[in-house]
Amino acid sequence: MTTALTTAWPEGVIARYLTVAGAALGRDDIAVDVSDKGEETYWRYGVTCSGCSMTDETSERDRADHSAQAHAERCRAVPRPTA
Ligand SMILES: [Zn+2]
Repeated sequence: MTTALTTAWPEGVIARYLTVAGAALGRDDIAVDVSDKGEETYWRYGVTCSGCSMTDETSERDRADHSAQAHAERCRAVPRPTA
């Protein structure tokens, strides 16, 4: 059995790491996103967690991926329902 992950990624997002909470709830939108803001931006890669308010910025893709992976492995935050 497979579960389809169909949530659309926000524009600019190039990688997504499912958090502990997202995995437990089967919600692929509770994740840490790595976004590419373009090569003219010094802090080119942004890291944003949709479960909590964690953000990070770096000029290197590897560091962004590492930061996102490390945070996703321990983040148990669930965003407050909007409706
Ligand atoms: Zn988080």
